[in-house]
Amino acid sequence: MSVAAELNQDNALPTIEGEIPGIAWVNGEFCPLSEAKVSLLDWGFLRGDCTYDVICVYKGAFFRLEDHLDRFLASLDKLQLQMPFDRHGLTEVMVECVRRPGLRDAFVKLVCTRGLQPPTFSRNPRDALNQMFVYSVPYTFFMTDEQRERGMHIHVASTPRIPPECIDPTIKNYNRLDFVSGIFEAYDAGADQVILPDQYGNITEGLGFNVFVIKDGRATSPGEGVLEGVTRKSVLELCEEIGIPAGLGTVSIDDLLYADEAFLCTGAGGVVGITEVNGHVIANGMPRETTRRLDALYWAKHEDPAWITSIDYGS
Ligand SMILES: *Cc1c(COP(=O)(O)O)cnc(C)c1O
Repeated sequence: MSVAAELNQDNALPTIEGEIPGIAWVNGEFCPLSEAKVSLLDWGFLRGDCTYDVICVYKGAFFRLEDHLDRFLASLDKLQLQMPFDRHGLTEVMVECVRRPGLRDAFVKLVCTRGLQPPTFSRNPRDALNQMFVYSVPYTFFMTDEQRERGMHIHVASTPRIPPECIDPTIKNYNRLDFVSGIFEAYDAGADQVILPDQYGNITEGLGFNVFVIKDGRATSPGEGVLEGVTRKSVLELCEEIGIPAGLGTVSIDDLLYADEAFLCTGAGGVVGITEVNGHVIANGMPRETTRRLDALYWAKHEDPAWITSIDYGS
């Protein structure tokens, strides 16, 4: 059985009216996920003034925990947000969020918002009381088994990604109306997912994934105007391990269309081939050898002590 099928079976998702088997930490207390609430007055909600991160738990261990914490703490700094604990305290809460519901394969999500204003309705962000939320949900793949097998059919939208001069894309954030209109465009075109171009016609990324192209043996991922994915970093390290030249650079839409291989990468699925772009078949229409090899290595690293942090679930 594929990794996707295995995970989805272990964590069969409940129907929409059922309870989601995860828990949340809000304001110092744990509660069932279905009861966790954000205030209507929270600037995270009203202004998209927040940052978040998502850490994968696989077979009872965090994957690349320190990389995710580094990115999250850097995002807090860039936005002048403060969370109510240090790195170690945060990790303890994250562990509780998977230990209590007994989730072996999960996402742990961290969200810090600008939060609530005092009753004076100050417009000064420095007056806000920042809010922190930590919660767990069962691991689910971003794409179906069929899509993983045959590769993703991608639409490069006409809407450009919000320029990095406007919103720093290295801060993982929820300002995603660019992706939302792109997704509508992609679905209307019969594609599975969208990749947004920048204003100059080069490709950036998708809603939750980075992109690589391989040409003449060299792997390249867009270096600017994108989130610095932990999976992207993992792929670059894996390429080095197996001797494939790889790096960051400019990737045009034509580079994607005429790539020998192309794939997307995300903590919510690993390395997945891109086999069609705007109706144009890439390579021979199936994920090719290097893509498959990198995906297998990526999942093998989920059991490598150097890349994981085991969770103590108690008895
Ligand atoms: C989360 C995210 C990614 C992928 O990051 P990983 O750390 O690899 O999961 C890529 N792009 C955007 C816009 C994202 O939000």
